[in-house]
Amino acid sequence: MKPLHVVVWNEYVHETQNPKVAAVYPKGIHQVIADGIKKFHPAYAVSTATLAEPEHGLTQERLDQTDVLLWWGHGAHDKVEDKIVDRVQARVLQGMGLIVLHSGHFSKIFKRLMGTSCALQWREAGDKERLWVCNPGHPIAAGLPPTFTLPEEEMYGEPFGIPTPEEQVFISWFEGGEVFRSGNCWHRGNGKIFYFQPGHETYPTYHDANVQRVIANAVAWAAPQGCWQDVLRAPCAKDPHEPISKK
Ligand code: ZN
Repeated sequence: MKPLHVVVWNEYVHETQNPKVAAVYPKGIHQVIADGIKKFHPAYAVSTATLAEPEHGLTQERLDQTDVLLWWGHGAHDKVEDKIVDRVQARVLQGMGLIVLHSGHFSKIFKRLMGTSCALQWREAGDKERLWVCNPGHPIAAGLPPTFTLPEEEMYGEPFGIPTPEEQVFISWFEGGEVFRSGNCWHRGNGKIFYFQPGHETYPTYHDANVQRVIANAVAWAAPQGCWQDVLRAPCAKDPHEPISKK
């Protein structure tokens, strides 16, 4: 059986410009996320892509082979070419899974797929974050404790300008008192989308074992189930399957 093909996309800008971020993620956020997925799913084919690569590392050919795409972006959302966004959106509608992380809430692709502002409250003050599993039977919560903490994270607070999630897996509380819908699921076309809030670049969030488990679970959950492309390529039946009585 073909292994699940996973691509971790990262704009990879802060790590090359900010020594504080480089100290936490010397090989880039994408590499730590990819290594975390491989730890839980050694059979998956996990690779990475970054903004600076030709076509941002997301050629049509590569996307056609991708089952689940993860997206981390922050300072360079506007540098992502619209034609690549079109391409990713089309693949999601066909059935590719998409996992949007942290500041990816303002990426072109997430805003396009949500159709709403995706705006939120934020504060960079090293708040402690407590995540609560509010849907313990959900596959993305498998193997997690009922609640876990991150010693420091960027506060993201409500109201979060998203369509009401079809499924909510996590809700977070921050030391400053705010709450946030921090793990949410949607479908668009045949594709599954999961947004997960933790992951500010100056904190070692993607090294955290619980966070790695959430992301690994989300990749498995978002795996394609059938593909609309196959259906669209099938011959279209002009002749009806039942006789239509002439009126
Ligand atoms: Zn951030």
